[in-house]
Amino acid sequence: MSLPVSRGRLRGFYEQPPAHANKASGSGSSTAEVQPSAMPKICIGGIKSGSIQSAGMKIRFWGTRGSIATPGPATVRYGGNTSCVELRAADGTLIVLDCGTGAYGLGKALTQSGEPVTGNLMIGHTHWDHIQGFPFFDPLFVERSNWTVYAPGGGDQRLQSTLAGQMAYEYSPINLGSLMAEISYADLTEGVFEVGSVRVTTQYLNHPALTLGFRFEVDGVTVVYACDHEPHSLHPLDAPAGAEPIHHEDRRHVKFLEGADLIIHDAQYTLADFPAKAGWGHTPLERAVDYAIRARTKRLIFTHHDPDRDDDAIDALCAVARERAATASYTPEIEPAAEGAFIELKGDKKVRRGSLGSDSSALLAVSGRGPATVLIVDDDPDMVLLLEAALRADGIRVITAEDGETALRQIREKRPSLVLLDMRLPDLDGMKVCKMLRAETDPGLRDIPILILTGLKLTEADLVEAFVAGATDYLTKPIKPTLVRSRVRSWLLRTVSP
Ligand SMILES: [Zn+2]
Ligand SMILES: [Zn+2]
Repeated sequence: MSLPVSRGRLRGFYEQPPAHANKASGSGSSTAEVQPSAMPKICIGGIKSGSIQSAGMKIRFWGTRGSIATPGPATVRYGGNTSCVELRAADGTLIVLDCGTGAYGLGKALTQSGEPVTGNLMIGHTHWDHIQGFPFFDPLFVERSNWTVYAPGGGDQRLQSTLAGQMAYEYSPINLGSLMAEISYADLTEGVFEVGSVRVTTQYLNHPALTLGFRFEVDGVTVVYACDHEPHSLHPLDAPAGAEPIHHEDRRHVKFLEGADLIIHDAQYTLADFPAKAGWGHTPLERAVDYAIRARTKRLIFTHHDPDRDDDAIDALCAVARERAATASYTPEIEPAAEGAFIELKGDKKVRRGSLGSDSSALLAVSGRGPATVLIVDDDPDMVLLLEAALRADGIRVITAEDGETALRQIREKRPSLVLLDMRLPDLDGMKVCKMLRAETDPGLRDIPILILTGLKLTEADLVEAFVAGATDYLTKPIKPTLVRSRVRSWLLRTVSP
């Protein structure tokens, strides 16, 4: 591992860019049609604030790969670096989305002049493919640079220690304290905040780590970044392209994307990869297409490419996605994210598009609250043990019940912040418990979030029945403890007052 302080050493890094680079400015034309040999050599740098148009946003992709970096001849067109996207508003506001290995090239470009750099680093979650570039991000080594690092958190100030963890002595020759920039850290939850002229709305995604998606609005231009995310349910399974999802959280996700000029969306897998990839926290490409259609977004750039897919495989996926979109009454432009690609979205300073939902702040204050209590209701002792371990690891106080009657008594006596409720229970089943709780007159009981768990083979009718009964959310066994943990955490952060 070399230190990232030798700025300029790789100044010519992009003088001979990946061959895909010039298709970037965004005609939406098929990358499959572009022959690398026909491409002129162009120089790619960071987006300069002085070069911005009078209104709108500029976007450049620096890392498009999911899970692990995969450099090599088979990935030269779409890129081998992990997640990193540069976004620049007309007022010069710089936002860096994720800090995978792609951040290395971006950092070099940003520091070419040797001047300090001010920016905002927004990390969707802290899995390695989203933070591995952090210790190699040059602006952090420039004195008088000023950075705010945002990531989902619980008001417990763990972000700094998480980033310090990957820079510990055992893993890295430099530690967090060696960085010369002024760095501040911000824990985010769902809500809204502003950086410069950009209004940012955040919403939880479904991933085996607490993860946020970001919606950016400026000068009438909207861009959404949703990476990494698995549909809460794939239902309806055989529906035509653009069909409305059944799970409430999937509908909410569509709302989050609604009307965007551009969505940069996870599409690591395909429907054919499921159910083997269920619980891994990624979107099948077909569903990313459906969301773009349903949300009437102008353009979908699918990203977080699977490390097992080479450029040709990604071209083939893109063809499938376009074919699917062509069958719908509304057809967004679709293309794969390509490392080096550059997009300019022209806006109008006079247009102010309202953001979604509530105006509550996404910035979490340091929390002084004690651990939340969660009730696990399941008659399978092995499942209880598994869930208990997952939640305790997150500092949650756990109480348990084996049947519906005991569950109702526990809820009334101990008022948990959330209930994990198995559908099949002896005597009083989960659906009945759910209905009885929703019929309570006391809002403190009636409004407790309920996550239904089921070992049944999920059907569309089950989902509908659970939501009619008053379920907040729905999880199907076999359950991945990491996914339950992040799902519970996101519901607690949404519903527990600070
Ligand atoms: Zn990832
Ligand atoms: Zn991840």
